[in-house]
Amino acid sequence: MANHGKGKISYILQAINTIPLIFFGVLILAIGTNWFTKAIYAEVEEELRNMAEGISITLDLLYPGDYRLTEDTPRRLYKGSHDLTFDYTLIDPLKEKTGLDITLFYQDTRILTTYSNNGQRIIGTGAPPQIVEDVLQAKEACFYNNMLVYGTSYFAYYAPLYNGDGSAAGMIFVGKPSDDVNASVKASVYPLLLADVLLILAVSVFMFLYTRKFAGCLLQIRSFLKEVSAGNLNAKLDSQIVGRSDELGEIAHSALNMQLSLRTLIDQDALTALYNRRSGNAKLQKAISDFTSRHTPFCVALGDIDLFKRINDTHGHECGDLVLKAIADTLRQHMKDRGFAARWGGEEFLLVFEQMELEQAKSSLTHLSQDIQALEVPYRDDVIRVTMTFGLTAGNGDGVKELLCLADQKLYEGKVNGRNQIVC
Ligand code: GH3
Ligand code: MG
Ligand code: MG
Repeated sequence: MANHGKGKISYILQAINTIPLIFFGVLILAIGTNWFTKAIYAEVEEELRNMAEGISITLDLLYPGDYRLTEDTPRRLYKGSHDLTFDYTLIDPLKEKTGLDITLFYQDTRILTTYSNNGQRIIGTGAPPQIVEDVLQAKEACFYNNMLVYGTSYFAYYAPLYNGDGSAAGMIFVGKPSDDVNASVKASVYPLLLADVLLILAVSVFMFLYTRKFAGCLLQIRSFLKEVSAGNLNAKLDSQIVGRSDELGEIAHSALNMQLSLRTLIDQDALTALYNRRSGNAKLQKAISDFTSRHTPFCVALGDIDLFKRINDTHGHECGDLVLKAIADTLRQHMKDRGFAARWGGEEFLLVFEQMELEQAKSSLTHLSQDIQALEVPYRDDVIRVTMTFGLTAGNGDGVKELLCLADQKLYEGKVNGRNQIVC
């Protein structure tokens, strides 16, 4: 019967859980990547600025005076009285330590530069016009992402170099290869990506298992209801589902109650609430099977209210119904713990004494007969009294039909012999 974890609702629930989760994961990743990238770019900018300012200040401290280019050939760059031409004593060790590329421009021309990867120094060439305009002419320090310098992409910081009169004598460039910066970004983002994917996976697995269990319950309730609606009133429902403390448990409980109500409606006689003929027949069949398989003794009685028609005729049908109910109550009470009573026909009842030999059953039936004789049913200004005649027989290997035929014969005998008696 169980149909765990399959069906449309399971897929819908999983989609409802997983789609927002993936969306959320991608969003976290996008925001995280953006945040890390910005933070690293800001850090690089800070590093480049500090380096540029450091070099500029160091040059001023070491070699006080203005930057100037001599007229002789080749032309030489002085800072104060110090000849800076080909003087790499400051910038080369800095490159060694930090990996940053450094260039000094006089006006827009490269005069001093750190060696490139192939060991060469690019000097004598001019700065791009945009930088001359942004930095030299505007006298503003500028930071650029992905600035191409001779085929290599750099994060670049350009700052003006000033002479004593405040004029811009040249520029200083400090750059970090974009590949290095991007490697740092990746190194920060990859753990985030990994954590994000692991988190999504873990939550997905949890959701998947929970959803499967949830959908499994729904599907089991569905199967149960399908079976009941197909007429199987003995269909079983997992007790774990019924025991749930949530709405699913309540639904399962109601479904079980519905099954019970249906069973009661089908098994019970509407007027007397005793078992009806159909279920009386089935229960008798069970007693016969127990006798056959385990030799459990039992007795069967058919009882009929004496001259019942007269009650109807004298006091009306409503009164007859009241008497039937009162008799049924007496029978039910008496048969409790002894077996069961069923309404077999209009005013005829089947009694089955379970695990009882004939003598014992007869004695019990005698008491019951006395109770019925003593029964008083008040109706309007009257009190109605009735008697019953019973035909009693011990169960044997015979079937329902044969047993009842025997009991009926004895009942008939009792009627013929004057009623209000037990014939066995
Ligand atoms: P006897 O002692 O020979 O059994 O006589 P009797 O009058 O009891 O038997 P009879 O078969 O002549 O009448 C049975 C009556 O029971 C007839 C019928 O109207 C009545 N009866 C059957 N079912 C019901 C019921 O549900 N309600 C009422 N009020 N009467 C019923
Ligand atoms: Mg009768
Ligand atoms: Mg009858």
